[in-house]
Amino acid sequence: MDKPVLFYSTNHNAPSLPFDQALLKGQAPDKGLYMPEKIPGIPGDIIRKMKDMEYHEIASIVTGMFLKGAVEEKELAAMTRDAYNYDIPLEQVYERKYVMRLDMGPTASFKDFAGRMMARWMNYYLRKLNRKLLILTATSGDTGSAIANAFYGFDNINVVVLFPVNEVTARQRKQMTTLGKNVKIIGLNAKFDDCQALVKQAFADNELDYLNLSSANSINIGRLIPQTVYYFYAYAKLSKKPGEEKIIFSVPSGNFGDMMGAMLAMKMGLPAEKFVIATNENDEFPVFLYTGKYGKIVPSKNCISSAMNVGHPSNLARLIALYGGKMDETGKIDKLPDMETMRKDMFSVSVSDKETEDTIISAWENYKLLLEPHGAVGWQGLELFLEKHPEYDTPEKLCVSLETAHPAKFPEKIRELLGFDPELPPSLEGIEEKDEKFDELDNRYNVFKEFLIENYK
Ligand SMILES: *Cc1c(COP(=O)(O)O)cnc(C)c1O
Repeated sequence: MDKPVLFYSTNHNAPSLPFDQALLKGQAPDKGLYMPEKIPGIPGDIIRKMKDMEYHEIASIVTGMFLKGAVEEKELAAMTRDAYNYDIPLEQVYERKYVMRLDMGPTASFKDFAGRMMARWMNYYLRKLNRKLLILTATSGDTGSAIANAFYGFDNINVVVLFPVNEVTARQRKQMTTLGKNVKIIGLNAKFDDCQALVKQAFADNELDYLNLSSANSINIGRLIPQTVYYFYAYAKLSKKPGEEKIIFSVPSGNFGDMMGAMLAMKMGLPAEKFVIATNENDEFPVFLYTGKYGKIVPSKNCISSAMNVGHPSNLARLIALYGGKMDETGKIDKLPDMETMRKDMFSVSVSDKETEDTIISAWENYKLLLEPHGAVGWQGLELFLEKHPEYDTPEKLCVSLETAHPAKFPEKIRELLGFDPELPPSLEGIEEKDEKFDELDNRYNVFKEFLIENYK
């Protein structure tokens, strides 16, 4: 029997835990992030067999490596089948250069991949423990709908999302407010930071302990592990010599959860040549990679790839741990990672808003490739890498850039740059006509607290 994988805290001041406990805890008690003590390897013959598998079967194998002994194989297979019931298109751009569209889930962003899996795992363990959980989250748009949709309809989990009424688009709002059931949405006549402040205060309020609050935010190990899967999927489907040839991925990055999935996949045995880590104007990572000096960007810069406006990526602590260093939750580096190996595995570049817009236009004109701002940062990152490293720029070299949101989520930008309205994906069709329901509350902690106590006895 394989031993279960244990998860340690990147601050090294909390006990290591098995998967189910790390999942339900979220952040380690010493404020570190959970990471696998041992990264399981996937044998080459299994990677070759993935060519003929469905995405959910690949997900079951890859995530199952981390969950040995923590879940029945059959139960896991049922959960991955249920979570991944949508397409993952691999669109050829030219030669063997592809875009992987991770935007066909219910909220049309790649966050569906992690959110839907984490929700099913949490519900599975909560049911076993006969426990309930109340997920509390503040959103400036996309995270809220991904979380609300991911946890929609589960018995042991309730969801409350706070959003600033005047700061989200109608389309973003409707993705949350048309759900109902176990999902409650609160609009505050305030700013995003105020919503977040109320959520933080609730977490710190001992009188609410009985509600079993959880944030389900991006630092949960349960959101990281599912993001290893699509790298194996793309490789297995596109490689002509699986196991022998090496692939290049480009990952548009903000909080670095996506790129950490890539790094874990590589350590598990994915044959990768290089990962291009493309950021927007928040360039703290490319600067760190090439100078060894790390400085947070406070406040973060507002770019059109808004989901990547992060001035201090929380998953950086994990990356640094993976390369033998140590960074605490404030961003202080106690021990530098192996920078040389990091530079060998990665190429990182910052892409300006101007370049992002130019890329949306040129990708459409040159290849009829429709990108939105996040995917354009990734594609531009790949183009810059190939320009700088012509030794990789051959027709045979397999490269995949990630598109993390659907262009229809940015209709104004696309109309401005390309002059037409992007078609809606099936998941967003008809949403304008659905009935909305949400509560509007004053921006006062006591009002919010009363709401929680009244609704969840
Ligand atoms: C969250 C998000 C990103 C950034 O992903 P990270 O894992 O935070 O690096 C990129 N694109 C879109 C559309 C997102 O929602």
